[in-house]
Order: sequence, then structure tokens, then C-alpha cells
Amino acid sequence: MVFDPSQGATTEPAVEALDAVIIGAGFSGLYMLYRARDVLGLRACVFEAGDGVGGTWFWNRYPGARCDSESFYYCYSFSEELSQEWTWTSKYPEQPEILRYLEHVADRFDLRRDIQLGTRVVGARFDDAADRWEVETSRGDRVSARFLISAVGCLSSANVPEIPGLGRFEGNWYHTGAWPHERVDFRGKRVGLIGTGSTGIQATPVIAAEADHLTVFQRTPNYSVPARNAPLTEEELRKIRTHYAEIWKRARDSFGGFPYQRVERSAFEVDDEEREQIYDQLWQDGGFKFMWGSFNDLLFNKEANDTAAEFIRRKIRETVKDPDVAARLTPTDHPFGTKRPPIDTDYFETFNRDNVSLVDLRESPIVEITPRGIRTEAKEYELDVIVFATGFDAMTGSLLRMDIRGVGGRSLREKWSEGPKTYLGLQIAGFPNFFTITGPGSPSVLSNMPVSIEQHVEWISACIEYMRAHGSTRIEATEKAEEEWVEHVRQVADLTLFPRASSWYLGANIPGKKRVFMPYVGGLLPYRERCDEVARRGYEGFDLRP
Ligand code: NAP
Repeated sequence: MVFDPSQGATTEPAVEALDAVIIGAGFSGLYMLYRARDVLGLRACVFEAGDGVGGTWFWNRYPGARCDSESFYYCYSFSEELSQEWTWTSKYPEQPEILRYLEHVADRFDLRRDIQLGTRVVGARFDDAADRWEVETSRGDRVSARFLISAVGCLSSANVPEIPGLGRFEGNWYHTGAWPHERVDFRGKRVGLIGTGSTGIQATPVIAAEADHLTVFQRTPNYSVPARNAPLTEEELRKIRTHYAEIWKRARDSFGGFPYQRVERSAFEVDDEEREQIYDQLWQDGGFKFMWGSFNDLLFNKEANDTAAEFIRRKIRETVKDPDVAARLTPTDHPFGTKRPPIDTDYFETFNRDNVSLVDLRESPIVEITPRGIRTEAKEYELDVIVFATGFDAMTGSLLRMDIRGVGGRSLREKWSEGPKTYLGLQIAGFPNFFTITGPGSPSVLSNMPVSIEQHVEWISACIEYMRAHGSTRIEATEKAEEEWVEHVRQVADLTLFPRASSWYLGANIPGKKRVFMPYVGGLLPYRERCDEVARRGYEGFDLRP
């Protein structure tokens, strides 16, 4: 970092003057730092709340944590050398392997010297006269930067529901998104797990294999497709490395950032028998392909969706031996894919174990946590450990936890009181020079994240480069462009089945959170084209000031 004496002379304590402050050292922050520092030559630093790099993969160390996207495309594409030298061991790598990858990236590109760990950004205020951000951290750093870039991630603010009595619980409790670094030993323990989203579904079989007894507290049953994880063979790795250029092109030109062959057929273009064969084959193959590689109308047409939903329901009934348990595990209240679809390893099979039981919270909701366990309306369950797999205050939680104030001291919290508003998910009117990597209003969580992250980082870098070339010190989304984009995001979502589920995409998992469909569902390729077009037209919809 470069110390600017002219600022230090007048301000106490000393203020460091930088070109860019980046918040977060996960996938987004690491790449943003690389682009800002090593490609653009900016003075940049990253503040990271965790004691290590890795973001999501630093925090989510719960048993069974692994990636739901395949390793060879859930990674960076920006460095051919990196792609060629890194060896993934399996199709769906476990959390420690992805963390090792990100640590390797930090070392390989010598990023650590500009990352300050264990430091949370607590606030940032825009200085209207200087066109700079003044940033404050939990450690008392005060930094001035031309650009403030959020790389806080979409799922990083853990949601521990406010259930009365948690403070009195005499056992241990953990949230999956803030898991301890030390091994949690479940042997001989009675464990209660709340939540059956992607996380709970990954954790359930692994905890069940170790605990004395596992009780799963389920509010909403979920559709889940087998992952079919397997080691990657030498031959597969060789093929992947040879075809990386093609793989990335396909991923970038796709709807969701996955390099699958695009499907153009509707679920009703084939007869019942062929449809069944297609689902069967994809069920055997495993993973997200079931959704993205089957039919193109599952998320738009309820009848088409019903064919996939019914197929999965039948698989649950076939897998789970106790018909009552199977019925409780069977989702009926939302279309398949309208909540983020989990993929699993033996999730439904786990309910055939003698040491696993299911509590349906729709039948008997949780009343309180007692010193000895969880009490529902029906009974008290005695537990030694409670695991909250209850998700996140998604997309906005981590941004709003900081006190970010734009023009005129207006806070982001106030601006977003009716739900998040952005232009392209990249910028917010009234908050100049502030960029949000994979912010609300961009495809982000509906896509394979690294592909979306790279697109945003590269767009932001190009924008800063453009500003430098044009002698501009300030860029701000216009109110009009923002309003139009917010309306477009809403309209596109309304064309799909997504709004029919009470999902975290809508903020429905957080009591009191305004229900707004937050990610952009129009697809990665059209979105990228739109962003590129905006840039080509001299950053249309933004005010650029010298
Ligand atoms: P989630 O999808 O929000 O699931 C949370 C679960 O907790 C839901 O079953 C929810 O029920 C339940 N819940 C929340 N509050 C509750 C309460 N007060 N009482 C009872 N139950 C409650 O969270 P998640 O499973 O952590 O997943 C979040 C996202 O992280 C995923 O959708 C995915 O995008 C990402 N993720 C990715 C991976 C990966 O492989 N890359 C792995 C795990 C997670 P309701 O459904 O009724 O709200």
C-alpha cells in the first residue's frame, strides 16, 4: 500500500490513500485484486473478515461440504497456466480441496501481501468533493480510495433463526456457514439438524454416519438429484485440459455458466416414454444436468415442470422405505428448481437408517430451544448438539451489515429499505465509484459463480481503464437506468416459475425482509451482451464525470 502524506498531514489517525479497496478475499476478491493490481497497476488492497482467504470456502467447513458444480468448471478461467497446472481429484471436490485451490491462487499470484485478514469493513462514506471513498475497518484502519469494490459474496451472512431459548441450550450449537476449524466430534451424540436446503442435504448423510442419533427438523421438503461423485481419472483430466478453451466458451455462452450442450427441446416435444428415458439417464449421470440438460421449459411451464417434479417424487418414494417418511420428504408446495436445487450423496437413503428420524415442522413447528434440546408443539427432543443449516441473509445481508453511505450521506440500508436496487447488479445510483461483484440484479446465484464473477471483475476493470483513459474520476449509475433495470429484472422473473417458491432468491427465508426477486434470471449470455453493449456505448446509463 502507498501512504499519501498530503492526506496524512491533515487527518488523524493517518489515512492511507489507495486507488481501490476490495471487500472480501473469496473467488471475487482474489481475482479483483489480481486485475486491479497486476493488470491495471492500481494501488489496491483487500480487507477480509476471515483469518484466511477463500470466502465461502473458508467459512463453510461443515461435514459433507462440497461443491455442487463440477470441479473443472467451478474455478477460474483467466489463467491458462493455472488451469493446466491445477489437478482436481474428483468431480465434486470437497471444501478443503477448493480452499486449497484458492490458497494456491493467492500464493501463485502473490496476492497475500495486499490482503489484510481478520479485518471487517464496518463502514464507508463517499466524499462528494473528492470523489473518493473513506473506508473504516473493525481494526481501526482508515483508508481513502477512489473505488470501493464489494466482493462480499451472495451467501455470506449466516442466518441463525431467532428461536426463543437458544442462549439456554446446554449442548453445543453450530451454524454450517460459520463452522469451527476444529473437528466437531459427533460420536456418541444426539444431533439435531435444522434445515433441508443444499447444505442440510449435504450434511445429513455424513453426520448420520457418525452420530449416535440424528434428528432432521424439516420445514420444507426439497427436490434433490444424486450427485454421483467420482474421482477424476488421468484420462478425463487430460481431456479437460486439452479442451479448456472450448469448455470456457461454452460456459460463457450459456444460460447458467455451465458448459453443457444446450438443450433446445421442450418436455412435450418427446413422448412419455422418451421423456422418462431422458430423466432416467440424467438421474444416473447425476448433478445439475438433470435441470440444465433435460428440457428448456422446466422453469417456464408448470406442466413441463410437473414432469420433472413427479419423476423426483417417484424416486423418493422408491428410495425411502417407510411410506410416511417418504411422504413427508416429498416436496409438493413449489415447482422443481424454483428453490436452488440441491444435489446429494445418499440423502434420501439416509432416512432408511435406524439412527435417523425426521420431524416435520409443518405438522408441529418449533416452539423453543430448551436447555436439553428442541421443543416442538408435539414434544421435546433431547439433543447434545444442534446444527443450524438454516442458510443466509442472501445477496443483501453482507452488504447491509456495513454502514455504506453514498452521496449526501444517504445510507444503503435506507436506499434498499424496499428491496435492493441496482443497475445491472454492478452499481447503485447515489453510490458513485462503488461496484458490487455479483450484486443483486445480476445472474450471480442462478449461475455457475466463477463464470459470473470473472465477467463482473473484467467488466469493472475495463470500466476503470476507460475512466482512466478519459480522465474521469467518478462514475455513477443514473436513477433512470437503475429504475429501468430493476423493472426489467422483475418482469423477466415474472415470466418464470421462480416467484412461486418462498425461496431465499426472494428474501422469503428472513422474517421481515422485503420480498423482491433478487437475481437476474434472463440468462448469462444475454446479460453479458447487455453489459458489453453498455460499455461499447460509452457506459450508457452511467454518469461519468471528469
Ligand atoms: P437454504 O437453502 O436457505 O436452506 C435453509 C433451510 O433451513 C431450509 O430448509 C429452510 O426451510 C430451513 N430454515 C430456515 N429457517 C428456519 C427456521 N426458522 N425454522 C426451520 N427451518 C428453517 O440454505 P443452505 O442450505 O445453506 O443453502 C443456501 C445456498 O448456498 C444454496 O441454495 C446454494 O446456493 C449454496 N450452497 C451451495 C453449495 C455448493 O455445493 N456449492 C452447498 C451448499 C449451499 P424453508 O425452505 O422452509 O425456508
